[in-house]
Order: sequence, then structure tokens, then C-alpha cells
Amino acid sequence: MMRPMENRSAVVAALLAASLTSLAASARLYLWPDAPGPVLLSPPPPLAIPPTAPAATRSVEIRPGDNFAGALMSAGLRARMAAELATLFAKNGAELRKLRPGSRLEVTWNFRREPIEVRYAPSPWVRFAAAREDGSWGITRAETEPDVRVAAVHGEVKSSLFEAIDDVGESPQLVMALVNIFEWDFDFTADTRTGDRFRLLVEKRYAGDRFVNYGRIRVAQYVSNGRVISGVGFAAGGEGRYSFYDPEGRSLKKSFLKSPLEFSRITSRFTYARPHPILGGTLPHLAVDYAAPPGTPVRAVADGTVSHAGWDGGYGLAVRVRHRSGYQTLYAHLSRFGHDVRAGTRVNQRQVIGYVGSTGLSTGPHLHYEVIKGGRRVNPLGEKFIPGDPIPRAERTEFERYTRALLERLEAEAAF
Ligand SMILES: [Zn+2]
Repeated sequence: MMRPMENRSAVVAALLAASLTSLAASARLYLWPDAPGPVLLSPPPPLAIPPTAPAATRSVEIRPGDNFAGALMSAGLRARMAAELATLFAKNGAELRKLRPGSRLEVTWNFRREPIEVRYAPSPWVRFAAAREDGSWGITRAETEPDVRVAAVHGEVKSSLFEAIDDVGESPQLVMALVNIFEWDFDFTADTRTGDRFRLLVEKRYAGDRFVNYGRIRVAQYVSNGRVISGVGFAAGGEGRYSFYDPEGRSLKKSFLKSPLEFSRITSRFTYARPHPILGGTLPHLAVDYAAPPGTPVRAVADGTVSHAGWDGGYGLAVRVRHRSGYQTLYAHLSRFGHDVRAGTRVNQRQVIGYVGSTGLSTGPHLHYEVIKGGRRVNPLGEKFIPGDPIPRAERTEFERYTRALLERLEAEAAF
């Protein structure tokens, strides 16, 4: 590849040469009208190394655990220059401590096999290019503004929500975003049914013509068993507080998640009498059991403080969390705990507090989940939890107008 500077000076030189020739020719015609025409020079002999000798570019893919200088060395640079470049990139704002696996690094070499350009795009939105001129490197940074397009997505569940969203050409990221909107109201683990339908308007972010990722979901609806749930995204009280509300302006955010696992299957519900698989006889099961593969992350269903994290008799490795309003939750048979989870640790809703296992009195990997209120175990699937704040009065009118427009657009672009 030719550098722009060389390219430009070559063009300038050519133009200059051409105009001098014609100037000479016209001068000769003007000054010496009888003189013979200009003598055309024969083309110069080819240079030993043509200046346009094909430059070579070598591209390496960043793999997990790679560091920048190391990747430059696998692209053929010497250690010293690789270190020099790493410093230069870092100084110019490239985040080199967390390289994105799958991103690429390109090194261009001239005909003398010297590196003359290094390009690195840490994301589809930012590109760096370092060019070597007279023995020293200069660097430029270019940014691509995401082109945000709002798209309608709709579909129907045949076997699972994952499949349904995959069927309409969208990715699992979108499934998670949809589940997160409604998980206070709808238990996708237990209640998803064949024939359920969904539709939504989502921001899609493009770099040029290439889809990169999803932005925010603007509005979503899910229909199951004749029940329609709607979520409207709105930043009440300013940007950065984007959250979902029903069309009446009530927060969809209840104080507890419906399930401590994102996806799983309920194998045993809350009951006062069930045959016990290990101890025999009939015993109350004042809990919910979820089947899930070992290692599945277990999330705190609400903010709280860990009151116990350790061996807990038949519960095996278990975590207990104390929440506001006199609630406590228990997560049992874990294989291990989440990072830094021990008695006294503050945990946030959705924080991973442990991983599914089969410790204690357990017949196989599953999560045993209890909710305790005022010292008594209550049914986690039956308990009504306190909702978050509604749209404030001052923003009601704006919210209602916005919601109407979104629902109309949804109906127009993705009629059920
Ligand atoms: Zn259980």
C-alpha cells in the first residue's frame, strides 16, 4: 500500500513534468515558429526497485489473553519497536489493558521489509493508525459514530424464546434484554408457552452498513395465555435513569426478581406435602427447586446483605441474604460462591452470589431457593413484592404522549 504523502507528491511531480513539457513546447512554437517540434523523450529505464513495489500487509487476530506488544511481535515486529508502538498507542488513548478478542491488528511493510503502518481497531467505532515517516511513528485516531436505526422485531414462541428470536434473525443478546424487562412480572423459566407472542422496537447500531449491536429497547410487548404485558423504556428524571414502565407509568421493576436463575426449569414447587427423594416419607417443601446445569450462575433476587455463606447442613454450600422489609432468601446446594461473597458482604440485585451444584442432601445439580419473611418460609412464586417508583407527576404528560406514539408505531410495523 502506498502512503498518501508519496501518492500526492508523485501526482504533483507528474503534473509539473507534464506542464513543463507543454510549456517548453508552446514556448518553442511561440519563440521559434520555424523550429522543429519538441523532441519526445524516450521513457526512463525502469528503476532497479520500482517505488510502487507491492507493500505487504500482515494481519493478526487478537486472542483472549494476548497483549498488544505480543500481538505486534506475532505480526513480525521486533520486541523493541513493538514496545515503542504499544507506548505510543496507549498514550493516544488506546485501551490496551483489555484487548477485545477477535479484533484485528494490521502491519504494512514496504519493499525494504520495514514496517510503515500499523492499524488497530479496538471496536467497530474506533480505529487507530500509526505511520512511520523518517524513522519515527505518528498516530491518528478516527471514530465512527454509530448509525442508530430503530427496528421492529416480532415473533411467536414454538419451543423456546431463544429459538423464536433466532428464527426471526436476531441474536441471544436480544432475548436477554427482553427477559430482563419483564422478569419482575413474568417468569420466563416457568411460564413460557407455545403460542406466546412478542413484539418490540429496538435500536440497532450500525457502523456504515454493518450491524454491530443493539442499543436500547424502546418498547416491548409479550402475550402469553391471553395476558399482554407491555414495557415502555423511559428515562424519568434524566438520561442514565432509563427504565421500563407499563403504559400507565408504573415501574416494571419489582423489589425481587421472579427467579434467581435466568433460564431453568422448575422441578419442585412450594408445597406443604411432597414425598422426599432422599429422606423418604412426606415432608413439606417450602421452597422452589430449579433444575439447571452445574455452574449456572445464581443471582441475588434483590439488594441485601449476605448473612451466611458456607456449609449449611443438608443445604450443602448455601448463601443466605437479608433484604429490606424483613425478607431473607436462601440459595442451597451450590458448587461454589460468587466472587467476594461472604457473611457481611453487600450484594446488589442480579449480582452472582454462587453457582449451581449438588452439595448437601441433593440427588443431582439443582438450585433450592427459599424466601423467608418474618422468620416463616413463604412461597417465592406467590409472594407479591413492592414495585419501584412510578413516572413522576411532572413527566406524566410527556410519558403518555411518548407511549402512545410508540404503541402506534409498534402496531403499524409489527401487528400481532
Ligand atoms: Zn428443594
